[in-house]
Amino acid sequence: MADGGQRHVRVAVIGSGFGGLGAAVRLRRQGITDFVVLERADAVGGTWRDNSYPGCACDVPSHLYSFSFAPNPDWPRNFSGQRHIRAYLERVTDTFGLRPHIRFNAEVRALRWDTERLWWEIDTARGAYTADVVVSATGPLSDPQIPDVPGMADFTGKVFHSARWDHDYDLSGKRVAMVGTGASAIQIVPEIQPRVGTLTVFQRTPPWVMPRADRRITAVERWLHTKVPATRELRRQLLWGIRELQVSAFTKRPDELGLIEAIARSHMRKVIKDPAMRARLTPDYRIGCKRILLSNSWYPALAQPNVDLVSSGLREIRGNTLVAADGSEAEVDAIIFGTGFHVTDMPIAHRVTGANGTTLAEEWKDGMAALRGSSAAGFPNFLTIIGPNTGLGNSSMILMIEAQLNYLADFMRRLDVLGGGIALDARPSAVEEWTRTIQQRMRRTVWNTGGCDSWYLDANGRNTTAWPGTTGEFRRVTRQVDLAEYEVLRPPRTAAETGRRTVEEVAA
Ligand SMILES: Cc1cc2nc3c(=O)[nH]c(=O)nc-3n(C[C@H](O)[C@H](O)[C@H](O)COP(=O)(O)OP(=O)(O)OC[C@H]3O[C@@H](n4cnc5c(N)ncnc54)[C@H](O)[C@@H]3O)c2cc1C
Repeated sequence: MADGGQRHVRVAVIGSGFGGLGAAVRLRRQGITDFVVLERADAVGGTWRDNSYPGCACDVPSHLYSFSFAPNPDWPRNFSGQRHIRAYLERVTDTFGLRPHIRFNAEVRALRWDTERLWWEIDTARGAYTADVVVSATGPLSDPQIPDVPGMADFTGKVFHSARWDHDYDLSGKRVAMVGTGASAIQIVPEIQPRVGTLTVFQRTPPWVMPRADRRITAVERWLHTKVPATRELRRQLLWGIRELQVSAFTKRPDELGLIEAIARSHMRKVIKDPAMRARLTPDYRIGCKRILLSNSWYPALAQPNVDLVSSGLREIRGNTLVAADGSEAEVDAIIFGTGFHVTDMPIAHRVTGANGTTLAEEWKDGMAALRGSSAAGFPNFLTIIGPNTGLGNSSMILMIEAQLNYLADFMRRLDVLGGGIALDARPSAVEEWTRTIQQRMRRTVWNTGGCDSWYLDANGRNTTAWPGTTGEFRRVTRQVDLAEYEVLRPPRTAAETGRRTVEEVAA
């Protein structure tokens, strides 16, 4: 459909990763077809479109890291690679007939709540929309963060972030620096180490690394999962159940994690024989405080003669020489930043202006907060998928996304029952109560007590990202919208008088 003019839709979904595609499926299943999915890129997939670095794969088993309503009996490995996950999301898009709803290259630049008409005005790179409801699924890890290192402007070599891999740049024989030792870096380093000339790894804080129980899923298993779907479901339930049982150690009894630390230490000892190197690779915080990483090839790669581990952060760049905080230097041809994403300063928040004329970022200046991870006060009919305090340390984010989709479905049902033109705005008291309870529970968790500085914590040291419970509990608390937690906004005028038109009417 050619763009131009302003179109009105019932729902505008922002983003086409797991969250946005899941929302689209859910809306269609609810009989809602008057919606668009606004995506800034030219393809679906989100995380799994943008992260194409060598070795990129999920670290939650594929049979759990996929939609419950779109099972895939054909996952090739326990931890399938990016190519397969991306292909899965393309298939979901086609199977559920989502393509006609998706507008690519439609970056959402601004959203403004119209207090008169009770709808959202949306400015996108492909024109303007208005929508009764906005579902923001822009992803917690979709905007790469590159630290502002002094001297970077004068570096004449190649620079890129792990989430924007430059496949045209040949690393063979090059002197390469990997900055960061997080989830992406530990997948990248073993893949590029055999190819590069030298590899200097800048490690500010060592991660805890556990063995990765990866293997090919056999043809027999796949046949069985296709012919007897109950076996596939059983596999998913087992993967889920084990992770649910682990949660209390993270959230209530971090001392129990000592046993896991012992396994991780022994995993390292088997490969790293030099005690000094082991000391540099041993974290001084409780396991689980930062995301636990899984790899069988990280330590072997670090032990190779062409790899140099600098156990301090990158401080500055002088010409083509990288200088670490401890003063050590390395001259390199390329820098790869595996330095994470804008998580606690969600970029879309700067673009959303609510009922009070303030942006979500301004409202969240002391920390992100949203009722049941979805609704911020003063931002009516605006639901976030993977909003504040919905992140997990040990299980599949798809479980949290699906729980939030249940909430979205009930939200839409309530709006229908209440009648046209109605909007629901989370009561500030409800958001405060929800946030207070979460923060109270957070005090005992490993993320807050484990002695690390992680991306779970915001600039004020508050944990506004993680969910301090099981996924089962989150599913329960998001099953239904409690209307008592919302203020019902009624339109001053009827829909007909405001002259709003649907996509179909404009297209006609
Ligand atoms: C390398 C990597 C590995 C991961 N592995 C796992 C794992 O094993 N298990 C797990 O549970 N989680 C994992 N995650 C977390 C992962 O991000 C989530 O599981 C999930 O993919 C998030 O889906 P999403 O749809 O919310 O966000 P995304 O997949 O990030 O999608 C967001 C979409 O919104 C679009 N967008 C953003 N802003 C705008 C805008 N202003 N206008 C229009 N479009 C916009 C983006 O282009 C993108 O397509 C991983 C993350 C990364 C980076």
